[in-house]
Amino acid sequence: MERVINFSAGPAKLPKKVLETAQKEMLNYNNTGISVMELSHRSSDFTKIINAAESNLRELLNIPDNYKVIFKQGGGTGQFSAVPLNLMKLRPEAKADYIVTGTWSAKAANEAEKYGKVNRVLPKLESYTTIPDVSQWSLSPDASYVYYCSNETIHGVEFSDIPDPNGIPLVCDMSSNILSKPFDVSKFGVIFAGAQKNMGCAGVTLVIIREDLLGKAMPECPVTLDYKVQVGNNSLYNTAPTYNIYILGLVLQWVKDQGGVEKMAENSKQKSEAVYDVIEKSNGFYHGTVKSHCRSRMNVPFRIGGPDGDESLEKKFLEETSKKGMIQLKGHRSVGGIRASLYNALSIEEAHVLVTFMQEFYIQHKAMATCQG
Ligand SMILES: *Cc1c(COP(=O)(O)O)cnc(C)c1O
Repeated sequence: MERVINFSAGPAKLPKKVLETAQKEMLNYNNTGISVMELSHRSSDFTKIINAAESNLRELLNIPDNYKVIFKQGGGTGQFSAVPLNLMKLRPEAKADYIVTGTWSAKAANEAEKYGKVNRVLPKLESYTTIPDVSQWSLSPDASYVYYCSNETIHGVEFSDIPDPNGIPLVCDMSSNILSKPFDVSKFGVIFAGAQKNMGCAGVTLVIIREDLLGKAMPECPVTLDYKVQVGNNSLYNTAPTYNIYILGLVLQWVKDQGGVEKMAENSKQKSEAVYDVIEKSNGFYHGTVKSHCRSRMNVPFRIGGPDGDESLEKKFLEETSKKGMIQLKGHRSVGGIRASLYNALSIEEAHVLVTFMQEFYIQHKAMATCQG
């Protein structure tokens, strides 16, 4: 079978170049006579792999020297626990502010509640389709940290700017939009991201942490989640996810070769604007579920045939896109409809295949849709 166009939200598409390199090196990495999977995590070959990944990441994101980098297992969800376990006790109140804008930040807030007080900063939302204006936020003066998710993968809600935490350390889950645009790392206390959305394959999680926040973990913090222990051992206190770090390294090199995060930002803008443009010009046939000021460049959820969606039209859309080799366009079960994920590895041409199909589908079916009139 030919390769298809994969619009999955994660694990997501990887650059073909990365897969080809991995294939070429599969049986014999760098003349070692073995695969990367079989290399000792303490060997000099693997040390080179992890160091190169870190240095490329530092260069791509312009990470200041007082920030440390960790590559470990546990996923984004592991970090929902690691963050409070490491940071809740930065202040005696053991309280944290959570800006909940979708499923992932909601889960993080629930997890943090096991370890301290959680203040939900935003007014209660009926649905995750917007980010309320800052004037409606209730940040607490004595929080240990302020937490948010820069891109809600399921709901398609993305922050266009970095929130101002009033001098309190800012923690961000960037799992689904890291490396998609330049940003100022020095505004953050901790940044984390699972690799399988925009950076690599499932199994490795990146943590970037400001040095002065290390060493405040709760005594009961599992050693594998303790930032200070992992930083002190260069992510090798125990066996790191070696093959996943290798793939991540290949992706970082690919991003560099493409022109860095600036180029990724340009591409993301182009791809997402093309899709949103069809939605906007469809007289309500396609219905974008998120308010335009915070709609995501990475994950575009929409309904077909009106705001609540016409399920038979949506089913038809999925069947026909699938016949044309476009897969994983079904929306998350909690949102319904369609979701197109447009991560770095998805090319502009591939996004345009979807855009063209959406235009054709609109012309063919607009008469049937109830939203007309
Ligand atoms: C996928 C995702 C997670 C969860 O990642 P796991 O690796 O499955 O634990 C957390 N946050 C965001 C924003 C995600 O997209």
